[in-house]
Amino acid sequence: MKGLMMEYPLTLTHLLERVRKLYPHKEIVSRMPSGLHRYTYGEYYERVCRLANALRSLGVQKGDRVATFAWNHYRHFELYFAVPCLGAVLHTLNIRLFPDQIAYIVNHAEDQLIFVDDSLIPVLERIQPQLKGVKGYVIMTDSERLPETSLSPVYDYEALLREADPHFEFPTLEEDDAAVMCYTSGTTGNPKGAVYSHRALVLHTLVECLPDGMALGERDVVLPIVPMFHVNAWGLPFAATLVGAKQVYPGPHLHPRDIAELIQQEKVTLTAGVPTIWLGMYELLQSERYDLSSLRTVIIGGSAAPRSLIEGFEKRFGISITHAWGMTEMSPLGTVSKLKSHLEQLPEEERFAYRAKQGIPAPFVELRAVDDQGREVPWDGQTMGELQVRGPWIIRSYYNDPRTEEAFDDGWFRTGDVVTIDPEGYIQIVDRTKDLVKSGGEWISSVELENAIMAHPKVKEAAVIALPHPKWQERPLACVVPKEEFKDKITKDEILEFLRDKVAKWWLPDEVVFVEEIPKTSVGKFDKKALRKQFEDYTWPTTPDEI
Ligand code: AMP
Repeated sequence: MKGLMMEYPLTLTHLLERVRKLYPHKEIVSRMPSGLHRYTYGEYYERVCRLANALRSLGVQKGDRVATFAWNHYRHFELYFAVPCLGAVLHTLNIRLFPDQIAYIVNHAEDQLIFVDDSLIPVLERIQPQLKGVKGYVIMTDSERLPETSLSPVYDYEALLREADPHFEFPTLEEDDAAVMCYTSGTTGNPKGAVYSHRALVLHTLVECLPDGMALGERDVVLPIVPMFHVNAWGLPFAATLVGAKQVYPGPHLHPRDIAELIQQEKVTLTAGVPTIWLGMYELLQSERYDLSSLRTVIIGGSAAPRSLIEGFEKRFGISITHAWGMTEMSPLGTVSKLKSHLEQLPEEERFAYRAKQGIPAPFVELRAVDDQGREVPWDGQTMGELQVRGPWIIRSYYNDPRTEEAFDDGWFRTGDVVTIDPEGYIQIVDRTKDLVKSGGEWISSVELENAIMAHPKVKEAAVIALPHPKWQERPLACVVPKEEFKDKITKDEILEFLRDKVAKWWLPDEVVFVEEIPKTSVGKFDKKALRKQFEDYTWPTTPDEI
């Protein structure tokens, strides 16, 4: 039997209509350079309709790509629904990429229009001559007048909305229609495009809201710190809309003090971002007082949340951290680390060890780890393998890209992450395939070493890279940033001594160098490629026999 249920395509339009009907009075707050901006979902809906009319009048058709070049704020959020619900494709450009990469992406995606924050105009001005297909630039500004710019033609976002009809009949879409696209911020080669369908985003949103996902409900106040150009701010704007939660957008100022003030003032219950943000916040909270008691949970992902950070936040400040893992190619949610109830009985040490893992797969995400020979490795928490995944919000191919072929293995997407999976199903990312240290044919996890070093009380950040070695092919070099107050007051031996009972002896880094900072990628992760480049002429001070 088939065709039993109603035809009801899973589209984002449903989320938008629902919030308008049920939660028109809930607030959306944005911290703009000119001050706090507040309005309700009711007002939001009207502006989304005006925006949809404006897009139509600018000639946007079904399937056209409409790009954004913007921080996290309400206008960006208006585009989040207006563009896909119109049937066009929202393309969120990563503002932190190199100009040439941005030009590549705009041209590759064939973006028709770019919506740009006034503060970011100079970046686009530099590459405009390369952007042949772009038909116009829409400037988002709080000023009365548009700034002087060489971009052309330009439109004023607010003027477009003022002049547009406030009523719009959203078209009926198919659930497989494209809704959003985003390029990976990979550190090698040109960025690769991932296109998400309405159906994928709707299913992803539902699962994200589950209690053992990010547990979002109407009572939440959600602050996405993760950029809206980085995999839809991990889906939080959609999830918050589905449930009718109040949303808070931080704008361009992301200093820990700005974030702490916003959490305190708006009584944020759930926020999310990469570890770098939280490492900074942890330091701030040691010296300055904020009332962050409204926070129910902080989602950390994008790179590994050091266990010391999870433990420190909880014990010192009573803030609960949820560690999660995902990828641009996965819309992005893959795993979430919450303790299963029967693991609550474990001693504290083991509980934190579980919570520092990346977690168990979300419903509908299937995963397996595969060794060098393509064999699936056992779920024993020991054996490492490359993680492969499949599921309804994982891409089937990269957008118009021949590199698709190498990215898939018999219908599974190859993540490039090396993991162990334990008998409970918790994965632990031990490395990127490219970042593993291969010493004498054995794998050393750079990530595990980093986490162990970052637990040292004098250390702010640490990154470990593999460098060529005459005897062992590769050996680990630890690059360590001391906390401000311990600059020049920490030694290599202290670090090695600290590691001695935490990792195997042959894993100990051959050298520890103290550096001012670890280079970061456009989305705030350690940029190991840049770090390797920095140390490409490095010669080991110790002889191989000392290992
Ligand atoms: P992106 O597509 O830019 O979000 O990057 C995805 C990659 O970030 C993954 O393949 C992982 O290598 C890394 N990543 C994401 N979340 C985590 C996490 N919780 N722990 C470790 N690595 C992570």
